[in-house]
Amino acid sequence: MTSTIDQYTLGRTLGSGFSAKVKLGQTPDGNEVAVKIFRLDNPEFNKRAFQLLKDEVQSVQTLEHKHVVKYFEFKENAVWNKKNGQQVPVAYIASELVSGGELFDYVANSGPFGEKIVRYYAKQLIQAIHYIHTRGFAHRDLKCENILLDKLYDIKVVDFGFACPVEGRNGDGMNRSIVGSLGFMAPEIHSKQPYQGQVVDLFALGVIFFILYAGHPPFNMANMEDPHYKLIASNRSQQFWALHQQRKPEGFFNEQFKDLVTAMLNFHPHQRLSIPDIVAHPWLQQGEFATAEEVRAEFVTRHETNKQLA
Ligand code: ADP
Repeated sequence: MTSTIDQYTLGRTLGSGFSAKVKLGQTPDGNEVAVKIFRLDNPEFNKRAFQLLKDEVQSVQTLEHKHVVKYFEFKENAVWNKKNGQQVPVAYIASELVSGGELFDYVANSGPFGEKIVRYYAKQLIQAIHYIHTRGFAHRDLKCENILLDKLYDIKVVDFGFACPVEGRNGDGMNRSIVGSLGFMAPEIHSKQPYQGQVVDLFALGVIFFILYAGHPPFNMANMEDPHYKLIASNRSQQFWALHQQRKPEGFFNEQFKDLVTAMLNFHPHQRLSIPDIVAHPWLQQGEFATAEEVRAEFVTRHETNKQLA
């Protein structure tokens, strides 16, 4: 027996997350899509989870950008016919299949990227986030696992499960829900203050830039107890960078990069850089970008090295 939901024949699992499983789906005319499946018989799938799902759909269905995953269809009540004959009530979202894997896996398995490639991805991420914000949404769960690569190794942002309108639920521009992933959450979320969705997205972006460049996170959590973050929060960023530099070859961190990321990770939300500030920063304005060909060549090398090691 095959596994199906409506018109989709399901294949391998592409990933699982907080609330759902994402599977490869094939339409009757042979097109491949990603089907994000939410089991309605799961006791954790309560009213709040259902509201989050509806919010997710409301945001993704309006978005159309080359670096944001494309939404196709949502069904809130369907049946998953499993291979073993079991029938499970589900809701699902079908979207464009993004087949190059998670950016995070590449960093975790074969190390950080060189500076020119980090700039290449930084630019695509800024474009995607700028677009999402100008369409009136904040993502609120930006992290390396939610940044996928397409066939050409360009970025697609996925998982709008925590996305929200930028005006906030009360219309005052502030959000209050504690959402996101610990290592990427801005300090104001950790300290349970009302916060601005776009501003916390840009904090997470600073963490992502650091990971792509260094190959590991800048800190465990952006709060005062964290030995790394407290240095940034108390204006001792020189020490923060010196601590990270210890395990790296001499001169590993470019001065302009340090300046940019320090400003993006500022403890005070109002003092952090906005998107125009980030775009205008010398690290992006004066530095070299990898070409698309160089990026693809890098992945060919990484795949070959992995095969040889396997
Ligand atoms: P959750 O909201 O439960 O965290 P996500 O939407 O983040 O779920 O999806 C979980 C994982 O599934 C992602 O990290 C990714 O690896 C994979 N995935 C999600 N969407 C797609 C897609 N459109 N194409 C390919 N893989 C995907």
